[in-house]
Amino acid sequence: MDFALSEEQTAIFDMAYAFGQDQIAPYARAWEAAGTIPKDLWPKVGALGFASLYVSEDAGGAGLGRLDATLVFEALSMACPSVAAFLSIHNMCAKMLDSFGDDALKARVMPGVLSMGTVLSYCLTEPGSGSDAAALRTRAERTNEGYVLNGTKAFISGGGYSDAYVCMVRTGDDGPKGVSTVYVEDGAEGLSFGALEDKMGWRSQPTAQVQFDNCNILSGNLVGEEGKGFTYAMKGLDGGRLNIAACSLGAAQSALDATLAYMGERKAFGQPIDQFQGLQWRLADMEIELQAARTFLRHAAWKLDNDAPDATKFCAMAKKFVTDAGSKVVDQCLQLHGGYGYLADYGIEKLVRDLRVHQILEGTNEIMRVIVARDMLKNR
Ligand SMILES: Cc1cc2nc3c(=O)[nH]c(=O)nc-3n(C[C@H](O)[C@H](O)[C@H](O)COP(=O)(O)OP(=O)(O)OC[C@H]3O[C@@H](n4cnc5c(N)ncnc54)[C@H](O)[C@@H]3O)c2cc1C
Repeated sequence: MDFALSEEQTAIFDMAYAFGQDQIAPYARAWEAAGTIPKDLWPKVGALGFASLYVSEDAGGAGLGRLDATLVFEALSMACPSVAAFLSIHNMCAKMLDSFGDDALKARVMPGVLSMGTVLSYCLTEPGSGSDAAALRTRAERTNEGYVLNGTKAFISGGGYSDAYVCMVRTGDDGPKGVSTVYVEDGAEGLSFGALEDKMGWRSQPTAQVQFDNCNILSGNLVGEEGKGFTYAMKGLDGGRLNIAACSLGAAQSALDATLAYMGERKAFGQPIDQFQGLQWRLADMEIELQAARTFLRHAAWKLDNDAPDATKFCAMAKKFVTDAGSKVVDQCLQLHGGYGYLADYGIEKLVRDLRVHQILEGTNEIMRVIVARDMLKNR
């Protein structure tokens, strides 16, 4: 068993870290205030191969493994978890299109997806179905040319901003087997968006409802086979959960690094606050928690890379453990900054707000426990 990163993996981490510090970190607060990420960032991301992390090299992607991808998201989140997490969604959609799309669809859309001239959103959640995603009701009825869509997707990251939407829609009966995946381009007739959601965190990412009102798409926009959409959507989520966990990890690590530095400078009662043993123990606890989170995350990613039969369970466990640990650590870091932690200038309060949603999306942390417990009961 070798826990060390390879030279190549270290280089991937370093490249993502340098890019994040150079191209994202200096602007993260301004983008948060503006409520959007400038679109000209994405082709730079695409040029590094970060828009197609696990699309095969044959198909023009970076051909990386899941563990490699977690390194990219951990490193980018040290600059801004909101921007990094948005990129994770694009990658999840890119992999779905590459794995399940037919040759004609891929020839048409993948060049833009790989360069990130085409930014993708993932549309599963609806106003009436979140955790119970298979209860989705957006309908796709067959027409002579393709499908006509009616319904609403809720909470869509990139709604009204992205260039195309990978959507789970109902083509058949109730339940997961009646769900298909379709590709809807921005500008399609009958496609519209709700107002921008006013959110606690992830504020640089636009979030909005995606609405279909007799929205016609061609049959060539069906991704893969009819009735398999729910399976495709869930396959994307194992990796998505690792990435979200990696985003919590990177952001929490950057908060801990900043806190360690701050505690050496800040004085109280005639000495730097890092000299209080009670606070040293809190630093140590955070270090232990993040190292455990990192090891667990990489173990789960290794399971997914190696098609282990319990990979889904491990991805769920890691997502819960790492996102809970990340949120706990950034909250403690805020506390150790005292009143300054509450001020935007110190950068910690943004991380508290950004990381909170990682415990809610890509499956809530309650649902992660449902997945784990179900597996335990089945295999006892
Ligand atoms: C900022 C943001 C961005 C998002 N981006 C996207 C996106 O891009 N695409 C997309 O498709 N979705 C997106 N989502 C939606 C997100 O995935 C859902 O909010 C999430 O899955 C939870 O669904 P819900 O909000 O409907 O909560 P509900 O499912 O209504 O859950 C409410 C509560 O009940 C608990 N609960 C539900 N069922 C069970 C159960 N069986 N056992 C125990 N507890 C349970 C939940 O854990 C939660 O605490 C986003 C959400 C947010 C907030």
